Amino acid sequence: MSSFSTIDITSRREYWSSMYTDPLIAGVLLSRTEIDAQMSRLAVQLNEDYAGKKVTIVPIMLGGMIFCSDLVRKLSLDMIIDPISIHSYKGTESTGSFEVLLEPQQPMAGRHVLVVEDIVDSGKSIQFAKEYPQKKDPLSVKIVALFSKPARRKIPIEADYTGFLIPNRFVVGYGLDYDGRFRELPDLCVLDESKL
Ligand code: 5GP
Ligand code: MG
Repeated sequence: MSSFSTIDITSRREYWSSMYTDPLIAGVLLSRTEIDAQMSRLAVQLNEDYAGKKVTIVPIMLGGMIFCSDLVRKLSLDMIIDPISIHSYKGTESTGSFEVLLEPQQPMAGRHVLVVEDIVDSGKSIQFAKEYPQKKDPLSVKIVALFSKPARRKIPIEADYTGFLIPNRFVVGYGLDYDGRFRELPDLCVLDESKL
């Protein structure tokens, strides 16, 4: 029996002053060590839940890329990796309608789909990402999200597996970007929005 459960750090207000010298980085919210330890627990749970099943891992690019590449190397499952890229149309307000820029290429019939997302904010992306594969007739579709900002939710939806509940701050690093930058940072950092 594995012991995975979501870690709630929504009340964490102190950021470790970091080795990052860029003034846009306010500090580290979650260290690479904490992320890795929680990912290991998640992997134990997924190895248990999907043992003996054919799995299609669908990372949502680009944000889910770093998380997915670390996660799959902790899994021992019969899997393929088949990414999706979605673009959300934004007017003055997020519309919740999406364009698929990169389609998963392989058949999903007879397979269990695990969508891998970096962070859940309003919930619109994972709602779309959970519905979209259904037309390919998979046996199941579940969402794995590493981070979630519950304070920002507009749709009452949660990922099936969530690594961390985090405070309502704009975060970068560990795959997440600001204007294309900072995806490569190994830790999850808070962006200093006062410096934008
Ligand atoms: P949602 O559809 O849930 O509103 O938004 C999810 C997407 O918004 C994520 O996949 C991510 O690309 C982006 N996002 C939401 N919050 C943050 C954040 O704090 N930092 C970054 N870099 N991206 C975010
Ligand atoms: Mg994303």
